[in-house]
Amino acid sequence: ENIVHDKIDYVYKVVVIGDSAVGKSQILSRFARNEFSFDSKSTIGVEFQTKTLTINGKVIKAQIWDTAGQERYRAVTSAYYRGALGAMLVYDITKRQSFDHVARWLEELRAHADSSIVIMLIGNKGDLVDKREVRSEDAVEFAENEGLFFSETSALSGENVESAFITLLQEINRVVS
Ligand code: GDP
Ligand code: MG
Repeated sequence: ENIVHDKIDYVYKVVVIGDSAVGKSQILSRFARNEFSFDSKSTIGVEFQTKTLTINGKVIKAQIWDTAGQERYRAVTSAYYRGALGAMLVYDITKRQSFDHVARWLEELRAHADSSIVIMLIGNKGDLVDKREVRSEDAVEFAENEGLFFSETSALSGENVESAFITLLQEINRVVS
């Protein structure tokens, strides 16, 4: 549950992007409401969710945007990226193709978003260890080369979801302060 704060110091817009079905909406739902659903339709139509938390002594309202079904390159409009200070670029560790497409999503981000945007690469569905198609080392190397933060998460178990957002928000706070 979100804590009621007297005063919001900053509102940070964060966008979530990546191929369809990688778990973007469920990561968001896990972070904002601590909920998970196997029904991928459950969050369609939700534009963004918010969560307020304290980072480095400041009350930060994270306003996190979900593509809600428009997740093909170029279908995501520049309005979606406008004003975004952070991005979660999500692939599915059990779908090689979703990782291969990360470079294209990065191109889209760099074309539309502010150049100072903080980007976190997320390998989701970390609970499906037996179905892994993307090695962590490959993602780490890619992230290092591209200057991205990286984390493997599971929206199902919740593992690393909050810490990934907190790392992103801390870095945004560092960049904008
Ligand atoms: P989106 O299209 O990227 O928003 O993907 P969704 O959040 O709708 O998730 C697609 C499907 O993957 C749904 O059936 C989810 O329940 C499932 N899913 C999402 N995250 C995880 C995860 O971490 N582990 C597992 N096992 N399934 C997940
Ligand atoms: Mg979705």
